[in-house]
Amino acid sequence: MSVLIYTENFDGKFKKSTFETVSYGAEIARQMGTTAIALSMGNVADDDLKTLGNYGASKVLHFNDARFANLDNSAFATAIAQAVEKEGANVVIMSGSNIAKAVAPRVSVKLKAGLVFAVSGLPKKLSPFTVPKKVFHGKAFADVVFNSAIKILSIAQNSFGVKEHLQNAAIEAFDAKVDDSAFKTKVTSVEKSTGKIILTDAEVIVSGGRGMKSPENWKPLEELAGILGAATACSRPVSDEGWRPHSEHVGQTGKIIAPNLYIACGISGAIQHLAGVSSSKVIVAINSDKEAPIFSAADYGIIGDAQKILPELITAFRKFKSEN
Ligand SMILES: Cc1cc2nc3c(=O)[nH]c(=O)nc-3n(C[C@H](O)[C@H](O)[C@H](O)COP(=O)(O)OP(=O)(O)OC[C@H]3O[C@@H](n4cnc5c(N)ncnc54)[C@H](O)[C@@H]3O)c2cc1C
Repeated sequence: MSVLIYTENFDGKFKKSTFETVSYGAEIARQMGTTAIALSMGNVADDDLKTLGNYGASKVLHFNDARFANLDNSAFATAIAQAVEKEGANVVIMSGSNIAKAVAPRVSVKLKAGLVFAVSGLPKKLSPFTVPKKVFHGKAFADVVFNSAIKILSIAQNSFGVKEHLQNAAIEAFDAKVDDSAFKTKVTSVEKSTGKIILTDAEVIVSGGRGMKSPENWKPLEELAGILGAATACSRPVSDEGWRPHSEHVGQTGKIIAPNLYIACGISGAIQHLAGVSSSKVIVAINSDKEAPIFSAADYGIIGDAQKILPELITAFRKFKSEN
């Protein structure tokens, strides 16, 4: 009995979502009184593998095979299923990424395991094994009971958070038997988008709503984000209007984020918006209406015109950075 956590790396580096997945799996392992084993595939340096111990993994299985640099659903599922069998794992944890969405169903079939996506919290019961999950685009929650011996949980991103629990993780080479014929696809080229910060991984996010009035007014918001090393986000009407790309839309029907700092400019704070941003550690709201609901969710509020306040913030942060 153990908990196996499938960890995703990006060019050999782990991101926040991986640390969240390990934190979550390690907590379940503690509840079950068993060990949390992380599985890493592809070329990842030992120092990076060791960091998984910071979030509670007591062992890291490393399947270092160059063929696993790019995703192939079939081959990845074969290797993961072998790791589950080798470790006798009865709980398998995956992130909520597109990789997990592609691979988890195949692992589920191979192991005759139950599979639940969008898991939003720790198990409510271990017997029968019952987990909460988001349903209806996050408008409601359902409790799901597993009937299978092996259980696969794909967790909703940013629903648990990254939690440190220091372990000295032992790194163990793992040699899955994956025949070349298991690879059903071949990546021939990869073109990376510019060095934009991924919204769901960002520690600081500057976000704009309809109160920004027009897409041309985003310049100061982007400038502030540049100074703070922040990602940019927006409310749903803003992306619906085509002022900003849909990839920036946060909230109930958009991305769920959990940065250390969320700066909301000209956003009213509708419940559907807050559903995606309320896990932020600190929320700063800039709004011209002192009655705007965002101020109830914010830690700090600035009442005023965002177009006047943003340039002042930019000047203040530039000064602070030049002096520190
Ligand atoms: C099923 C469903 C799902 C939804 N999902 C989402 C979602 O995922 N994400 C989301 O964001 N919304 C979602 N919505 C929409 C949501 O209900 C709100 O309509 C939306 O969040 C409002 O966006 P907003 O705050 O940008 O605009 P508004 O509500 O128009 O607010 C604009 C704010 O800007 C302020 N303002 C105006 N001028 C200035 C200025 N010069 N300076 C500073 N402030 C100014 C105003 O006081 C106001 O508070 C959903 C709605 C439904 C029904």
